[in-house]
Amino acid sequence: MDIIKENKNICIDCKSRLELLQEAMNLSITENALLSRPRRVITFGIPVRMDNGEVSVFNAYRVQYNNALGPTKGGIRYHPDVDLEEVKTLAFLMALKCSLAGLPFGGAKGGVEVDPTKLSKGELERLTRGYVREIHQLIGPNIDVPAPDVNTNAEVMAWFVDEYSKIKGEFLPGVVTGKPIILGGSEGREEATALGGAFVLKRYMEKIRGSKKNNKKPITVAIQGFGNVGGNLGKILDDWGHKIVAASDADGGIYKSTGLDIKSVCNTKDSRCKLHEMKNVKRISNEELLQLPVDVLIPAALSKQITVKNADKIKAKTIIEMANAPISEEADKILADKKITVIPDVLANSGGVIVSYFEWVQNSDNHYWSKDKVNEMLKEKIEKAFDNVFELSQKTKDSIRISAYSLAIRRILNAEKLRGTIG
Ligand code: NAD
Repeated sequence: MDIIKENKNICIDCKSRLELLQEAMNLSITENALLSRPRRVITFGIPVRMDNGEVSVFNAYRVQYNNALGPTKGGIRYHPDVDLEEVKTLAFLMALKCSLAGLPFGGAKGGVEVDPTKLSKGELERLTRGYVREIHQLIGPNIDVPAPDVNTNAEVMAWFVDEYSKIKGEFLPGVVTGKPIILGGSEGREEATALGGAFVLKRYMEKIRGSKKNNKKPITVAIQGFGNVGGNLGKILDDWGHKIVAASDADGGIYKSTGLDIKSVCNTKDSRCKLHEMKNVKRISNEELLQLPVDVLIPAALSKQITVKNADKIKAKTIIEMANAPISEEADKILADKKITVIPDVLANSGGVIVSYFEWVQNSDNHYWSKDKVNEMLKEKIEKAFDNVFELSQKTKDSIRISAYSLAIRRILNAEKLRGTIG
């Protein structure tokens, strides 16, 4: 009797993303085997003493996908839907993102299955310190460097550094990035993802418009998700003279064909844009926002927002993936048939990890840079990554996603070969 053994180590989603590359890269069986599963998966339970005196145990994960290029790097999210398969995919995408940006990092991701809105601040702190205690031997500035992700922030990173430094007996801020500035965080990190996306969009428009007279013409933009990434990107594009005609958050969207007055809702000290306060606009649903006939659509909220259910109805000319994986694989094919250009997440939202890298460098030098210097270096790095991808896609006629994945994977495989792992 044949026994078909399921290979639980394989990341199913990563494997199917690699299959997309087969034609462009002709990966060998060994290369496929190496890339389709993470190097290290850590699953653990974190016992936390709750405020009522009882102990709850939370499921937690850390996936270190590939470390050929350097210490692994990637955020930790706190969310009730966190599951191992998703963490594996996000770790794989981090490996690609770091490689594409030319950073000396591999890729990782972590998560805790928890609804943080149900925890007190003290419980959240004990959960974070518990996470560090369980994995402190497997992370570190030269091993694996976590960062904030969904529902984790600079405050959580501060607890992380404190617990790790206490265990190790010395101050080691380079163990995580996305810290408060006073504890070794970097200037410019907060807006880095948005600014990076804006640089990518500007560069793309320059490439496709060339030296034509209309190359300075404002573009119309719709942004789904107006939080840190979407809100900051909206502010930057508005400042640069573009027309944000629609924006949304979890409560729904707003639309104005002549352009939203972004400054009136975003000019607040707490840096959050209050869309519901905007007057003289049409209320629209998130689904309607995605289907607007704009020059550029920017999903900046959640994953899997454009799927087979709505891909056919998308009318934007270009989509910039600022959220991670907002377009499903099947939808990507439909968009390609409709000749809609997609600038993928591994390129478009890499500004965050690029400035995280700058934070890590500043921590190891103990020397801190100005915001202008950080932004200038971000521009240089992300434009170079964009140019490399664009040039390859022009040459091969492959999509920008396939070109970005190919360049990223080629760099990882080169490092694996030089280390003697393969080849
Ligand atoms: P955030 O929590 O600051 O903002 C998320 C926004 O999305 C909020 O405005 C929220 O109201 C909105 N939202 C939630 N559900 C929605 C829905 N169903 N429809 C429309 N809007 C909805 O998060 P963020 O840091 O801005 O991250 C946004 C995305 O970008 C995430 O996918 C994240 O993984 C990705 N990302 C963030 C960074 C970073 O540096 N923050 C880096 C890379 C990728």
